[in-house]
Amino acid sequence: MNVAIIGAGISGLSAARELRSKDVNVKIFDKSRGVGGRMSTRYASNGDANHWEFDHGAQFFTVQDPAFKAEIDQAVKDGVVAPWDARAVYLKSGEIYADNGRDRFVGTPRMNSLPKYWARDLNIELGRRIQRVVKGQGNKDESWTLEFEDGSIEAGFDAIISTVPPAQAELILPKGFAKMPSVKAAEMHVCFCLMVGLSAPLNTDWDTLRVNDLPINWIAVNSAKPGRKRDVGTLVIHSAPEWSDEHSEADRDWVQRQMLQSASALVGMPLDQAPHIALHRWLYSSSKASPDVPCLRGDKIMVAGDWCLGGRVQGAWLSGRAAARALL
Ligand SMILES: Cc1cc2nc3c(=O)[nH]c(=O)nc-3n(C[C@H](O)[C@H](O)[C@H](O)COP(=O)(O)OP(=O)(O)OC[C@H]3O[C@@H](n4cnc5c(N)ncnc54)[C@H](O)[C@@H]3O)c2cc1C
Repeated sequence: MNVAIIGAGISGLSAARELRSKDVNVKIFDKSRGVGGRMSTRYASNGDANHWEFDHGAQFFTVQDPAFKAEIDQAVKDGVVAPWDARAVYLKSGEIYADNGRDRFVGTPRMNSLPKYWARDLNIELGRRIQRVVKGQGNKDESWTLEFEDGSIEAGFDAIISTVPPAQAELILPKGFAKMPSVKAAEMHVCFCLMVGLSAPLNTDWDTLRVNDLPINWIAVNSAKPGRKRDVGTLVIHSAPEWSDEHSEADRDWVQRQMLQSASALVGMPLDQAPHIALHRWLYSSSKASPDVPCLRGDKIMVAGDWCLGGRVQGAWLSGRAAARALL
């Protein structure tokens, strides 16, 4: 069996690893320049003076499923994941509370270390944006063909697994895909990520801060995560989901100013003076409306992704594995 997987994020990699363990031929295609999708890291510098790294997508992940735990335990042993014992707090009505919950894990030395580790030895083509998935050329041809944005095609696949966000899946999946209504009904929130690089370490008494009722809902001291450079200060600031949806098309300078203003008050310093400031818009960040099933099954075409299971890294891993198993 020859299977094409669309997307080299956590769900695509999980599907590929599951199929490969059963000796299936797998080829992954991704439009980006690197693997990992939303589990990603941004690099910046101002000449030779300072270098910064920001995990600007997933901040950390939690582990409940026993099979996912076994994978993460192995990744911890191999040095690409570590527990993050963060000083986590949330601010409510002017009071600070401990933000305890499940144990947090991060990729080390950066978030994309985990997908890179899972991607090793897999057959992955990067920089290849798929425009359409269609059934083979002739009447009797039951195989699948991928049509790419640059006009090229790849034909002869026995099965397809799509792991792209729902709005993108809607565009590329064949019109006759049986579960299209579930794809169309799935929705995701926008999120702006503001990355602030400082030339000296930060002096906050927390590593992560959650807040309500502001344009932002999350600040993380990225440089406080295990394995990160400590000679500079890096802050990752996320906008709140409803605010982001409402202002998704707003002027970027305005968005940046709003977020900097909120964050400066919370960090206690004027962040607009920082030597590095960058804003990234995630059109599809967290799940707003999810089908809440491990994957959506068609005839030799499966649809997976974190959004099938309500979002998050563990959900992505489980969904990819479920799609592979459904095919097998
Ligand atoms: C700002 C932000 C904060 C987050 N914080 C957390 C957190 O703290 N904890 C947590 O557990 N999760 C968090 N998440 C969610 C987590 O990142 C995702 O659940 C997970 O990474 C999704 O993996 P995936 O493989 O399902 O999707 P993705 O990572 O989105 O992978 C899909 C891949 O498909 C590719 N693709 C899309 N369209 C095409 C096309 N047409 N052709 C080819 N390739 C295509 C993309 O380039 C991408 O690589 C966060 C996400 C964001 C954006």
